[in-house]
Amino acid sequence: MKKVITIILGAIILVVAIYFFLPEILFGTAWGQKFFLNMEGEDVAYFYFKENQKSKDTIYMRGVIYSNTHNDIRQTLNNNPQLTTLVMEDVPGSIDDEINLLASREIRSRNLNTYIPDSGMVASGGTDMFLAGKERAVHETAKLGVHSWSGGDLEALEYPRDHEEHKKYLDYYVEMDIPTDFYWYTLEAAPADTIHWMTLPEIGKYQVVTNALDLNKMLRLQKRLASDAFKGRGAGDNQLAQEVILSYFESINLKAFENGYKYSFPFQDENSGEEKTGTNLIGYVEGSKYKDEYFVIGAHYDHLGVVNDTIYNGADDNASGTSALLVLAKYFSIYQPEHSLIFAAFDAEEHGLFGSRYFVNNPPVKFSGILMNFNFDMISRNPKNEIYVVGTLPYPQFKPLIEKQAENSPLTISYGHDNPKDKTKDYWMYASDNGPFFAKDIPNITFSEEDHPGYHQPTDDFENINPEFYRNVVRLIRGSIEAIDQNYPAAEINSSSN
Ligand SMILES: [Zn+2]
Repeated sequence: MKKVITIILGAIILVVAIYFFLPEILFGTAWGQKFFLNMEGEDVAYFYFKENQKSKDTIYMRGVIYSNTHNDIRQTLNNNPQLTTLVMEDVPGSIDDEINLLASREIRSRNLNTYIPDSGMVASGGTDMFLAGKERAVHETAKLGVHSWSGGDLEALEYPRDHEEHKKYLDYYVEMDIPTDFYWYTLEAAPADTIHWMTLPEIGKYQVVTNALDLNKMLRLQKRLASDAFKGRGAGDNQLAQEVILSYFESINLKAFENGYKYSFPFQDENSGEEKTGTNLIGYVEGSKYKDEYFVIGAHYDHLGVVNDTIYNGADDNASGTSALLVLAKYFSIYQPEHSLIFAAFDAEEHGLFGSRYFVNNPPVKFSGILMNFNFDMISRNPKNEIYVVGTLPYPQFKPLIEKQAENSPLTISYGHDNPKDKTKDYWMYASDNGPFFAKDIPNITFSEEDHPGYHQPTDDFENINPEFYRNVVRLIRGSIEAIDQNYPAAEINSSSN
């Protein structure tokens, strides 16, 4: 009898122990973590190459970081020493922060770059791992989430600031060169059981990305806009190009004026004489200091369209300026300028500057608030590596600021095409979308290269551009806009003095 009672008692104790402690024991094992995550419809983190992947320098990651992740990443890196980039597609978090920080340090020590791709989602512990990338970039449709943590009964913010629990994260961010403010911001951003999706200005403020000017994206956009499907983006028939530009505006949350992004206007087709409708696409980034003072960053997106069944793709003229405009809009959404910046993709330039003229006659803001215009027209094709900066003769106040940028540029930077008396060069002050601004005495600077054999020819194709030249021009443009934004010079001398 005594023996039976002992057995029953033992069985009860065992059942109770299993009930209370087994999940905890199991959760301490990789197998158990996998089991519990699978029950919640999640996967544990895994690393893989895509089928048909050409080069093996990029590896992809999905799933929740868990106790095996440090081993997995170490093994993956040992087996693939050629890896340069970790693409984090869907990494919603971590269930083992100690392991996560070890795995992340491994990523940094191997100089891996991290990237969150189109429609990617990375949050919580995944965000910490993302920060381990040496170079870090985020696709404009990707989501990056942060939140606070809780330990036991306390939320992170209830621990004193100098508590050991904070220190392990703060040490990690210091090592990753992330401002420690980022850590305190994540604790405020959302409680432990929810997620805050970072905005582009937050991503800029906390140095979350290293690569805010996405020149690879720019080249992909140019290639796309200059592909046959876009029918040469002929004004009046460039719906597809409009959709690409508008969806990019939306993806970076570019602000719209009260009438939205689209501004239609009538124009006359240069060739057929037909009355058609053109469409400017316009958004803006608000300035941090001078909200009501605007720089207009403009580029025309139309080209010649289809002529006698031949598609004129206009890769350089002016898918180059358009794509630069788009990635600059993203860049300045991440790093807020002091002045407000209007990003304007103009239509019907090729028929006679209709879009930009409509803009200056019907501005979406008070005309007197428009301080200046930057115009990009043909900036990706010059085998001599030479770019023209046009407008510094009538507006010399900008020249020293641009020259300062030019010091660090591998380009040959020439000034000119802005003197009507110089008969050795075409006069470009009315030759592109800067013209209508110039006509109304709005200071303007145009970036453009000399005409090339593909100018207004069907051979103005993506294959014929000079990608490195193009990248360097856009770096120069970015620097010039920033310098002028931060040191907007007094316009004592203007076009009237010439
Ligand atoms: Zn053009």
